Amino acid sequence: MGKVLTLLYHRVNELERDINLLAVSADNFYEHMRWLKENYQIVRFEEDWNQLDGEAVCITFDDGYADNFTKALPILKELKIPATVFMSTGNIGKKREFWWDELESDLFCRISKDELELKDDVFGCKWIARNRQERKNLYETLHWLMINNRTKMWNWLQQMENWEDVLEDDRKINYLLDAGEYRALYSPELTIGAHTVNHCVLSKMSVQEQENEICGSKEMLEHMFGNKIEVFSYPFGGRNDYTNDTKEICRKLGFHKAASNFPGIWKENMELYEIPRNIIRNWDKEEFKNKIRRFWKDT
Ligand SMILES: [Zn+2]
Repeated sequence: MGKVLTLLYHRVNELERDINLLAVSADNFYEHMRWLKENYQIVRFEEDWNQLDGEAVCITFDDGYADNFTKALPILKELKIPATVFMSTGNIGKKREFWWDELESDLFCRISKDELELKDDVFGCKWIARNRQERKNLYETLHWLMINNRTKMWNWLQQMENWEDVLEDDRKINYLLDAGEYRALYSPELTIGAHTVNHCVLSKMSVQEQENEICGSKEMLEHMFGNKIEVFSYPFGGRNDYTNDTKEICRKLGFHKAASNFPGIWKENMELYEIPRNIIRNWDKEEFKNKIRRFWKDT
């Protein structure tokens, strides 16, 4: 009977700050991949897992950061390991960060004031953020408010832009590439899946809005890469971040598998529109080995 442990990476990079713990260094990523290659069969997310025999591991990335192509892909090519990157398309070619990176840059890069004021008819208030810990708390508060108030998010980010001058150099490491640059780096080791246009919580949207988000990213990626895009991952990916309607939209649009973001192992004949995934952090080889063994044991 086939069993698949799917790993979820976001970035392969070294970042000055990494509030959400999304980055794995290239050295650690290399060690992870080499050890997996020596110890497991590695399958692609798009494959028909019901044909599998025994235990396998699957590598995925969410969001579509440039470093997936510039730093992870050369390692995947060298070791001949397949992986899938689920790309959120709204910022492609825009020289703009994802909103959570923008929030992080706004709060940690530039702002020297102690009091930060955000105007809003419901939430408008002054926050005091005098040191790193207070900024971190503020980041978490605003992150949560933005997830839950997506229509206000852009207005708030705009207000933050005006707090102080933007230093573009601080943000470049978070920018996505443009369509031509992604195409030039593309190689079949790293296949592409969709991850919505604006990376919002789908369960908080109407069915029509969800369909626009999902279909919009699928069509743009198909146009960019000239391939059919047949797999999807839900932004944030927790059980409350999508609904049965979301799964139905994915089925209807021709996706044959979709990835969630809660730990677990997929086993033969299990649901294909809710594949569990296990988040990987910047662990060294020993810690990575222990975590992978633990993931298998916990299920
Ligand atoms: Zn994501």
